[in-house]
Amino acid sequence: MLTNSSSFLKKAHKGNYAIGGFNVNNMELLQAIVKAGIEKKSPLIIQTSQGAIEYAGMELIGAMVHSISKDVSIPIAFHLDHGTNVDLVKEAIQSGFYTSVMIDASSKPFNENVKITREIVKLAHKKGIWVEAELGAIPGKEDQVNVNEANAFFTDPEEAGTFVEMTGCDALAISIGTKHGVFKYSKGKAKLDIKRLLEIKKHTNVPLVLHGASEIPRELKKIVEQYGADLSDAFGVSPSTLKKAITNGINKVNTDSDLRIAFTGGVDRYMTKHPNNMDPRKYLAAGRDATRKAVARRIDQLGSAGKA
Ligand SMILES: [Zn+2]
Repeated sequence: MLTNSSSFLKKAHKGNYAIGGFNVNNMELLQAIVKAGIEKKSPLIIQTSQGAIEYAGMELIGAMVHSISKDVSIPIAFHLDHGTNVDLVKEAIQSGFYTSVMIDASSKPFNENVKITREIVKLAHKKGIWVEAELGAIPGKEDQVNVNEANAFFTDPEEAGTFVEMTGCDALAISIGTKHGVFKYSKGKAKLDIKRLLEIKKHTNVPLVLHGASEIPRELKKIVEQYGADLSDAFGVSPSTLKKAITNGINKVNTDSDLRIAFTGGVDRYMTKHPNNMDPRKYLAAGRDATRKAVARRIDQLGSAGKA
C-alpha cells in the first residue's frame, strides 16, 4: 500500500535500522524493487530524481508507482529525490503522486537554504507530505546533482540543529564523507566521519539520510567488466562502514548506482549470450531480475527485512 514514510521512518529511527530509498526511472526497475521488498517484507521508499522525471514524465512514473503499490501489503512511500528546482518540487507536491519530497538547496548559503526549505515545508505539510532537506554538500555527480570536490563540505552539527529547528523539515540529508555516482573512491573505500554523525544526531531529532552510499559490489562490477566496462577505479561504501553509519544514526540510505550496475550487467549478459534476440522483454527481464537481487542484498544490509 502507498503510505507516508513518516510512520516507518520513525520506527527505524527508534529501532536503529535504515530504510532504502531506491531510485526508479522505468517499469522494470520499479517491479524489481517492489518484488525484492515483498520477498524481504521490508518497507520501501521508491524515489524519482529530476532526471527520471525528465526521462519518463512525472505522471507516468507516478501512475505506475500508485498502481503497483495498491495490491501489495508492504508499505511503499513515493519520494522526489534531490529537488533542486523549486518549481518542480512545488509541482510534485501539488501533483498528488508523492508522499514525500526532498528540497535540496544545499548549494545555497545557509540562510537561503533555510528560507527555501521552510517555504517548501509549509506547502508540503498542508498536504500531509513529508520533507527531506539537505545541509552540507555531498560531492560527485548523479543525474542533475553535480558538486565539485572543491565545493563539497561536511555538515556542521550545530548548524544542523539550528537548521532543523528553523525549517521544520522531517528528515535531513547530511554530508559525512560519501559521494554520489559510480566512480567515487578511486583511492580506496570510503571513510565516513562517524564522530560527526554522532554529533549531528545529538543536535537533531529527525531521521538522518545518507546519500552516495552505494556499495559497488565486486560481483556486480565483475559482470559488467566481463562485457567491456571498466570500473576498476570504482569503489563504494563497504557493508561494514555502512553498518557503522546505520548503528550510529542513519535511518534512510539512498541507492541508485548499485541498481544501475546490476541492471546493466543483467542486460549485457543476456545480449551477449543471445545476440540474435530482438525482443526487448527478454533482456529487460534479465536486467530486472539482476536488480531484484541487488535490492534484496541491500535490504539485508540496511536491516529493514521483516519490518513491514
Ligand atoms: Zn543524493
